[in-house]
Order: sequence, then structure tokens, then C-alpha cells
Amino acid sequence: MTSSSTSPSHPPRTAPRALVVGSGISGLAAALSLHRAGWQPLIVERSPRRRTGGYFVRFNGPGYAAAERLGLLDSLPDRRDPQGRMFEADSRGRLTPGLAFPRQLNGTPMRMLLRSDLERALYEAVRDLVEIRYGTGPVAVAQDRDGVSATLSDGSVERADLLIGADGVHSTVRSLVFGPEDLYRKDFDHVVAACVMDAPLPGMREGDTVVATAPGRSAWINSYRDHPPVAFLLHRTPWPAAEIRRKPAEALRQAFAGFGGDVVPAMLDAMDRSESVLFDQVSQIRLNRWSQGRVVLLGDSAWCMTLHSGQGSGMGIAGAELLARTLAEHDGPSAALGDWERRLRPLVTRHQKEALRMRHFFMPANTFGYIARRGFVRATNTPVGARLGKVLMG
Ligand SMILES: Cc1cc2nc3c(=O)[nH]c(=O)nc-3n(C[C@H](O)[C@H](O)[C@H](O)COP(=O)(O)OP(=O)(O)OC[C@H]3O[C@@H](n4cnc5c(N)ncnc54)[C@H](O)[C@@H]3O)c2cc1C
Repeated sequence: MTSSSTSPSHPPRTAPRALVVGSGISGLAAALSLHRAGWQPLIVERSPRRRTGGYFVRFNGPGYAAAERLGLLDSLPDRRDPQGRMFEADSRGRLTPGLAFPRQLNGTPMRMLLRSDLERALYEAVRDLVEIRYGTGPVAVAQDRDGVSATLSDGSVERADLLIGADGVHSTVRSLVFGPEDLYRKDFDHVVAACVMDAPLPGMREGDTVVATAPGRSAWINSYRDHPPVAFLLHRTPWPAAEIRRKPAEALRQAFAGFGGDVVPAMLDAMDRSESVLFDQVSQIRLNRWSQGRVVLLGDSAWCMTLHSGQGSGMGIAGAELLARTLAEHDGPSAALGDWERRLRPLVTRHQKEALRMRHFFMPANTFGYIARRGFVRATNTPVGARLGKVLMG
């Protein structure tokens, strides 16, 4: 693996040092927030280069508020296409009017973004301030009273006042410091596949969104201004861990056989042509404590909520921004980390529970759920239902 790095600015020598593992949304947000709070962060990223890809992100709530405090909102314009149409498809691909994403949710504004929009906004904010070292990550972590040392895969040792594990759902920092992933991963009985498509679906216009659902299966195509559509598929299986070891194309063609008229075959063809397909089981991460000494987990590594919460990126940013503010309020990391967790945990718990409920909306578990979902979508397309929806969503 090749290593490269970006060049940093030079903060005061006395600034406390933070080693941030992972340059995803949470890691970049942590580095930006800590730098603003007077820290000297260093990011190490396993991938040899920036990870700029990704899928859609519904962006609202605490993440939106934190992005506003960090001054990022101007770099994050809403991607919705005003001309775009929303459709629901049944298992034979017949189209009916779909559910529009609201502009407000629970009293806060909501933007539709791409993960790459968030990554770019954060990267551009940190790139002249913080060193990012690519192609490396920790292989061992040791702590003493005065600091934490991480041995990296390139053989170097980094010493810091705080180590932030923002290295995603399959976190190495968590495995090294808190124990094996199996202790903390709660698997849903389904698998997600996602990719950026190379063209709109036949018969669809740029900006159109199509959602096809059936018990145990669903297919989503979300479209945006100035970007090709993003597709994701969910299917239910009692053995998700075994399913994701199969070839994605083979597993998906079997799971979606005969489903969604022309919609799903076109998505599967696009996935065949795509160089980057996400194919993973859907799991939450649940730990009783997110820090041990001077090591703290952040984002998916600490609390992965699943795509069903619609809050994973947002809570990564919110958690990072609150962490920096809380560190500034305390004398040492240990009191700050406890206080940070006390303030953040109720929100995370709420979104994890919400994800459990919302998984039935993303993919109905059975015929009853399917009928209820379709009834709900149809109701929101009546004048009374639309007004009621607005009241309920704030
Ligand atoms: C289909 C889909 C739809 C989603 N929709 C939404 C949505 O609508 N709204 C929303 O807010 N969220 C959404 N999410 C969730 C959101 O994308 C994630 O919660 C969020 O991106 C997690 O960011 P992270 O930085 O914590 O982790 P990651 O994005 O996983 O980043 C971790 C980084 O750490 C690096 N890394 C890993 N291991 C090491 C190592 N050992 N050493 C060094 N670096 C390492 C990785 O290469 C990566 O760059 C969705 C997710 C999916 C899959």
C-alpha cells in the first residue's frame, strides 16, 4: 500500500495532540472541530487516497445544527431537483405517486445531500490545517498516565493526548482497545447493496426517484441535481454474514428474481457496470462506554445506527463538534469524555431505536407491513394526508 500525506499548518507546539483514525465524515469533522478548539490533530487513513464516493444522505437534526456552527452549510446546498418526480413501484414495476421528502423534519430544516458533498466540505475545511496520512492505520495502542501511543502499520509510532477511533463500523481501534467486534455488533436480518448508477433508469427523467417494495425486498433509486442517480437494494436473509461472502451480482440476482418489473434488472445491470458497489450486512454497534482512558470512539465505530436512522453522518458531525466543545470546557480528557458521553448518549439511543422502527418502512418485513406502508404513502398523496403529514413532521 502506498503512503502519502497532505501538508498541515503549524499550530503552537504546546497544543494538545489528537490522533484521529479514519478520514470519513466523523474523522474529518473531529479534526476540524478539534483544530478550531486549539488542538493539533493528525489523521491517519487506511485507504491510499481520499474516499470521495458514497450514496444519499438525509441531513437534518443535530448534524445540521453542528454543521451550521462549523460554518459548513454554504458548502452544502440541497441536491433536490425541483422538477424531480417521486414514484412508488409495486413488485411488477407499476408506478404510482410516491412520498416526497419534507423540507422540515421535527422542527429543523432538512437537506438532501450526497455523502461526497459532506466529505468534500469537511476535507476542504481541514486540508490546509491538518495533516492527513494515507495508507496507514494503527496495529497496536498503549496508554499511560500522560498519553496514548499508537504503532502504525508503516512502523512509525504516534504519541498523542487523545486517540479518536473514527474508523467505521468494522473499527480497528475498537478491536484493539475494547475487544472483538462480535461483542458489540447487533446484526439486522438484512443486507444492503448500493452504487452510483451511470444513467437514469429507462423512461425516467433526471431527478426522478423510484422506490419499489415488497415483503423482504426493496429497491431505491434517488436522483439529484448534477449527479447520476444513486441506487440501493435491501433484502432480508436469515444469514446476512454468509450472504455478504457471496458474489454481489449472484446474490442480488437470486434475491430479486422476478421483482420490480424493469426497475430492478436495470439497477442490477448498473451495479454490474459499477466499479464500486457497497455490499454489506446491516448492523448496529452498541457499547456501554465509548471511551477507555484516552481512547474514544466516534461515529459508526462507536454507535453505528444503520442507514435506516438517516442520522449516521449527521451524528458523526454532531458528536465530533460536541467532543471539541466539551474538551474545551474541562481540564483533562477523562472528565471531558464522561461529560461528552452523558450529553450525547440519549440522542444516539433515540436514533438507534428509531432505526429499528424505520427498518420496516425501508423494507416491509411481511405482507401486513407492505400493505400498511402502501396505505401510508397513498394517504400522503391526498390533500388531507399531505396536510396531516406536514403537521406530524413539523
Ligand atoms: C446506503 C446508505 C445510506 C445512508 N443514508 C444516510 C442518511 O440518509 N443520513 C445519514 O446521516 N447517514 C446515512 N448513512 C450512514 C452514513 O453514511 C454513515 O453513518 C457515516 O458515513 C459514517 O461515517 P464514519 O466516518 O463514522 O465512518 P466511515 O464512513 O466508515 O469512515 C471510516 C473511515 O476510517 C477508515 N478506516 C477504517 N479502518 C481503518 C484503520 N484501521 N486505520 C485507518 N483508517 C481506517 C476508512 O477507510 C474510512 O475512511 C447511510 C449509509 C448507507 C450505507
